[in-house]
Amino acid sequence: MAISALAIQNFSNISDADCDARITAAKQALGDRLLILGHHYQREEVFRHADVSGDSLKLSRVAAASNAEYIIFCGVHFMAEVADILSRPEQVAMLPDLAAGCSMADMANLTKVERAWCELSQVLDPDECVTPVTYINSAADLKSFCGRHGGIVCTSTNAPHILEWAFERREKILFFPDQHLGRNTAFNMGIPLEEMVVWDFDQPRGGLTADEIKNAKMILWKGFCSVHQMFKPEHIDAFRQKFPEGKVISHPESSFEVCQKSDLVGSTEYIIQHINNSEPGTRWLVGTELNLVKRLDEQNADKNVHFMSPTICMCSTMFRISPQHLCWMLENLLEGNVVNQIKVPTQIADEARTALQRMLAINV
Ligand code: SF4
Repeated sequence: MAISALAIQNFSNISDADCDARITAAKQALGDRLLILGHHYQREEVFRHADVSGDSLKLSRVAAASNAEYIIFCGVHFMAEVADILSRPEQVAMLPDLAAGCSMADMANLTKVERAWCELSQVLDPDECVTPVTYINSAADLKSFCGRHGGIVCTSTNAPHILEWAFERREKILFFPDQHLGRNTAFNMGIPLEEMVVWDFDQPRGGLTADEIKNAKMILWKGFCSVHQMFKPEHIDAFRQKFPEGKVISHPESSFEVCQKSDLVGSTEYIIQHINNSEPGTRWLVGTELNLVKRLDEQNADKNVHFMSPTICMCSTMFRISPQHLCWMLENLLEGNVVNQIKVPTQIADEARTALQRMLAINV
């Protein structure tokens, strides 16, 4: 029988080393009943306990295929929501710290997106002309909005295929919340910048004229990732000056200017594969989150891996998942207590699942 939940305060002073041993013991005791998913941006003390690591696309597929009773998502809130939506009703999705959100995801919300849809309808019929595409970094109710309006979810890995899917159905895309992923992907597909506009959600009708909306193929939400916006073209210039033989690889959440100056642009999985498979002695400047770049550097001792920004910029919300939180969650499970369960309301989950399954049906 469950006893009252162990309090997180009693775990905050446990050393990382003690947490490590207690997490390992709890995992062993829970066995196959437990699956821990770890995003690449997690700090090492947490990441090492993940049964499966990956980016959002890989982990959402793993969550959908899992038989585990408990799925602990070491990542941020929207990821645990996806795990809940794609898992079976009797499975439990959990997030070690409920304050682990995503500042980019928070830049779009249902009220603002519904208002945008309504304002677009003053100029055209959005349900005829516009496919809503949400980056997976978004709240469940925005995925549900896409499910309701013939739209779809994308990740940084599959974004080009998803945009193709969307353009096959309607002439325009409303892409939220990350303007950079939308712009970089569409430009690489041959859509000129002149056919893209930025929807400023703080302005009436996005700050756009009726003609600007009518002439646009891509309507980009004015959102961004606070980590990837730290990378600047001048960081690349300085690297190239010092190491002319070096290569630059960036995540598409980085700005257009950074991506245009990079040799390669792709998702975290793409970045990892490229660097792991590169020749010994090669030198890389990497534009993505610091914990991942540090891990790449450690795992590729025969190569030189540099972080793009001179300032330390890690994802502070991902960093909220500490070994103490993970230990607290696991020891509560051993006592029969589920803490920090993420449960998406049924109707939102059903419509969000529609948009997610449209994405998962596109094999990348
Ligand atoms: Fe969100 Fe950026 Fe952190 Fe990713 S790195 S979780 S997009 S704030």
